[in-house]
Amino acid sequence: MKITEANRTPINSLEDALNRCQELGMRVSRQRRYILELLWSNENHLSAREIYDLLNQEGKEIGHTSVYQNLEALSAGGVIECVERSDGRLYGNISDSHSHVNCLDTNQIIDLQIELPESMIKQIEAETGVSITDYRIDFFGYKNPTKAK
Ligand SMILES: [Zn+2]
Repeated sequence: MKITEANRTPINSLEDALNRCQELGMRVSRQRRYILELLWSNENHLSAREIYDLLNQEGKEIGHTSVYQNLEALSAGGVIECVERSDGRLYGNISDSHSHVNCLDTNQIIDLQIELPESMIKQIEAETGVSITDYRIDFFGYKNPTKAK
């Protein structure tokens, strides 16, 4: 299920996410809504396991399989973000291009909207012969600077 660039509107809220599901013809089941509500209220990048635990702690009954299947469908549809990490996948509420600050000591991922200067894009295009249409940058660092040494 791939969406073309033309009909992509940015998802900036839970409502936008639910609308995107409708546009895609995805049924918004109770479980699917639970997952979207959690991602939009939590605003962290969470693993399927964490999502399962948090929902069940809130008393929202959802099975393991349902969590995995819904995350799969939502990320395939571009409704949510899926980050591939060495230790597994993490899911976030922002599906549009954005950059990440990766904290190496806390394992936290912070979403960041950053725009490179036009001159830098031009330089990259000149060096590679590729016309740049999109980019995502990964920054790495330490929350607690003493650990950097
Ligand atoms: Zn993100």
